[in-house]
Amino acid sequence: FRIQIAPIEGIKESIVGVVAVLRDITEIRRLEEMRKEFVGNVSHELKTPLTSIKGYVETLLDSSPDEKISRSFLSIIREEANRLQRLIEDLLSLSRLESKSNYSSKEQVDMMKVINDTLSLLREKARKKSISLESDLPVSLPLIEANKDQMSRLMINLVDNAIKYTPRCGKVKVRSYNEGEKLILEVEDNGMGIPEKDLPRIFERFYRVDKARNRKLGGTGLGLSIIKHIIEEHQGQISVESKVGEGSKFIVELPLNA
Ligand code: ADP
Repeated sequence: FRIQIAPIEGIKESIVGVVAVLRDITEIRRLEEMRKEFVGNVSHELKTPLTSIKGYVETLLDSSPDEKISRSFLSIIREEANRLQRLIEDLLSLSRLESKSNYSSKEQVDMMKVINDTLSLLREKARKKSISLESDLPVSLPLIEANKDQMSRLMINLVDNAIKYTPRCGKVKVRSYNEGEKLILEVEDNGMGIPEKDLPRIFERFYRVDKARNRKLGGTGLGLSIIKHIIEEHQGQISVESKVGEGSKFIVELPLNA
């Protein structure tokens, strides 16, 4: 609490009372802490690839290693630069979504097309891990009022995560159907799953279940928080069911008219 006290003066400079104002600053402090943590996280996430790039460049310049080693260093540098690029793009998306002044235009979107485009885009990635990418879709789906780019982003992030966190020869399945005034999207995998204690936190910025390993898989730790913002912007809901070692299922509900 922040306390402000002021005297109440009576006649002839006598003090007849005191006014005390108590302001609950817990929320302000909490937001301030969150902001500081976020800035700390961003700095750390940007510094890690940069330090690695600088280290490899120094080694290449100082010791001129043979061609094979040089090429392997260059490919690490490229990978780290790609990570920086993804991180910056995700940070920009997040900041656009978080700024309330941003109005995202909505139109009638055909989710069947968005889903099929996502599957085509990620089929090669799934194939490389021998993961079967399946879909269970009705003959037709109603159009929904939504931002098309954000819907693509939502589907790509969910299916990409499902492929990323599922071991070789696993299965990823996308389902969609209409229920009353809502469209339901489900992305299910039989991968590593998420421990129960982490489930409430996975939508937080930079939260990862296994920091070191998940960073290696190429994620920025921002995907699910971007998804959460997109869904809020469409007055929808997202939930997740998961069991360690068995898999995860993300369920999205979107109103047909947001
Ligand atoms: P990342 O870029 O690390 O994938 P996300 O915000 O997309 O970040 O996801 C946050 C964390 O949630 C991931 O680091 C991972 O630990 C967990 N996660 C997300 N999707 C899945 C999934 N399908 N299976 C298991 N874990 C998942």
